[in-house]
Amino acid sequence: MIGRLQKAGWTITADPEEAETIVVNTCSFIEDAAQESIDVILELAEYKKEGACRRLVVTGCLPERYREEILKSLPEADVILGTGAFDQITKAVRGPQYSHQCVLPDPDLAQLHPHDAPRDLTAPHVAYLKIAEGCSKSCTYCIIPKLRGKQKSRQPQEIVSEAIALIAGGVNELVLVAQDTTAYGNDLPDRTNLSQLMESLAQIPIDESARAIPPWLRVLYGHPESIENSFIEALASHSRLCSYFDLPVQHVSPAVLKQMGRRYTKDDLYRLFDRIRDRVPDAVLRTTIIVGFPGETHADFEALLQFVEDVRFDHLGVFIYSDADDLASHHLSDHVPKAVATDRYHQLMSAQSGISSENNRKYIGQAVKVLVEESLDNHLFAGRTNFQAPEVDGLTYINTAKMPFGLKIGSFADMRVTDTMEYDLMGEAI
Ligand code: SF4
Repeated sequence: MIGRLQKAGWTITADPEEAETIVVNTCSFIEDAAQESIDVILELAEYKKEGACRRLVVTGCLPERYREEILKSLPEADVILGTGAFDQITKAVRGPQYSHQCVLPDPDLAQLHPHDAPRDLTAPHVAYLKIAEGCSKSCTYCIIPKLRGKQKSRQPQEIVSEAIALIAGGVNELVLVAQDTTAYGNDLPDRTNLSQLMESLAQIPIDESARAIPPWLRVLYGHPESIENSFIEALASHSRLCSYFDLPVQHVSPAVLKQMGRRYTKDDLYRLFDRIRDRVPDAVLRTTIIVGFPGETHADFEALLQFVEDVRFDHLGVFIYSDADDLASHHLSDHVPKAVATDRYHQLMSAQSGISSENNRKYIGQAVKVLVEESLDNHLFAGRTNFQAPEVDGLTYINTAKMPFGLKIGSFADMRVTDTMEYDLMGEAI
């Protein structure tokens, strides 16, 4: 949307006080996110009274989930665009075509992002590359298929063309995302899959005179049901592809998995993670878990905790089940009290904190490559290694005190790890 607005002649500002039009792009995946979106809208609506703002546009999943209701409860908004209407952003900010109106086309009919659509990157060295939109699975706790429609994969040549342009523009890390990345391609008429796409991306020619180190390619949001051996093989075979496996398992108890609508067993998961580690010895495993799902018993939780202690994930995200009456899981019996779910959350986080600390200690003394992202005080920079994904994993801190000059933001640097914290690494530039 930012790219489209810039192309249409708008100047983007992050300062709401000077903005003529304020656009709030919202999330409503869980209750907390929806509440945060509403709070931000109300806070920014104040600029219509006092600042330069003449128009407030609300976009994304909040209107998609709550439909016309949102217009009634947020009279401050001038235009509301659902997820299938992102391409109407230039009309929405301009007015007067839309005035106090909700635009909610079917997300299944929305145009997929074309490879040459204008883009503006938040950080010029990292780009998210969307490979599909929507999800064809039906986990009972998840609203995404309703908000984003069924899976619609982009054509591989579209994705490769966009990747080529981003790399030529200086991007050093491409993060492939979708709601269910490992299911990529199974909806296309010429069936393809994620491993074929990764092979094509790994073979993009790189101008070695312009860059000594090829960009990293990382995949997030896989699924234990749809991951194929060929994808594991692709990551094992190409150094340009990060050996990073983000596979949210959500739970391991047969009863909970059944009620969640996820079709695998705990043993399938043990076998899957063993297989990955056998084939890719430097594999980094990330997973996500939900605690307090309706019907989760003490024994279910104990099995989950044991699983986390056994697999020893490099990175773990834990979420407390978020209920809402438009979810299928809302109608299940035996909802878990919030206090019990919170206690289970803390138990898992505490177990993982010890596992992560121990995992990190193996890097002490090793030389690692770091993508430098921020300059801090006193010769200190922050960045990430290829085993740390943006936003969700820990950071790497590089001390350059012994170097005659600092580091360039967005470039790669070499570092020797001297110390570790629970989730972060520290070391000296070499
Ligand atoms: S696979 Fe992911 S996006 Fe799709 S329904 Fe399940 S949780 Fe939601």
